Amino acid sequence: VIVVLSGGVGAARLLRALRRVHDPAEVTAIVNVGDDLELHGLTICPDLDTITYTLAGLNNEELGWGLRGESWRVMDELAALGGAAWFRLGDRDLATHLFRTQRLREGATKAQVTAELAEHHGVTERLVPVTNDPLATRFGTDEGELSFQEYFVARHHDVVVRSLSLRGASTARPAPGVLESIATARRIVIAPSNPLISIEPILAVPGVREAVIARRGDVVAVSPIIAGAALKGPADRLLHELGHEASCVGVARCYQELAGTLVIDQRDERRAPEVRDCGLDVRVTTTIMADPDDARRLAQEVLA
Ligand code: GDP
Ligand code: CA
Repeated sequence: VIVVLSGGVGAARLLRALRRVHDPAEVTAIVNVGDDLELHGLTICPDLDTITYTLAGLNNEELGWGLRGESWRVMDELAALGGAAWFRLGDRDLATHLFRTQRLREGATKAQVTAELAEHHGVTERLVPVTNDPLATRFGTDEGELSFQEYFVARHHDVVVRSLSLRGASTARPAPGVLESIATARRIVIAPSNPLISIEPILAVPGVREAVIARRGDVVAVSPIIAGAALKGPADRLLHELGHEASCVGVARCYQELAGTLVIDQRDERRAPEVRDCGLDVRVTTTIMADPDDARRLAQEVLA
């Protein structure tokens, strides 16, 4: 089994690419839940949903989130009422959150609901939230502390971040199977997800970081930063604001104790020696997954 530590979009693309070179029934994604939120009384899990929708072939490529062919009648009506319509939830997407919330109220765990949604959508990879317990990434800013979606959606990640914290991390327990799958995987992949707000919340669940470190020789990370920039989202900006270098070398330093190998983009080839100086093996390839053949090549490299 291949284990993939996963955020949202970057991880979803890598998981889709892995399908071309590995049996999806033997892939386990351990997914960040630090972005999860309660809104309108509903439990929303953005990274789990992004992965499920992408692997089901239902993701909205234009928006970069949600379902394709979505309609917005509920949001339009809610906005007209003066309700909280800043966090856009499409009509069909809402059904996911209604279903999840109902099942949680019935006593199901987040992991169980995730498996039910994946099965419904024909997704054969095993998708596991890193924890069933509450975990929330918080952003320290000059305007005070912001929740994940206040920072990401309401402020369009356009505010200086001074610090990050993870509410609930010290008491969260790994979901069933998380530590076991890390301990026994043939390969552990750190997806090209945001190191600070997608991967770090996974590692912060007690026991997970230690489990990954124990497998360091079999851990391969893919840099989400290419030529000093994120393809999408605030990873470059956040790295810089929080004192890291926004480059594949900065990513190497973040993952130094966790990963034996870092895959960097060919545009960063000249930085390979600096990655090696961090104590990581380095592989250089095209890491942009827009083209299916490039995506397959990256997947092969990650499993090599
Ligand atoms: P989010 O939770 O949806 O924001 O997504 P993630 O944390 O999983 O991924 C965000 C990161 O994915 C960004 O830093 C992007 O640079 C990176 N990313 C997205 N697509 C690709 C890709 O095709 N290749 C690489 N190397 N990184 C990607
Ligand atoms: Ca996310």
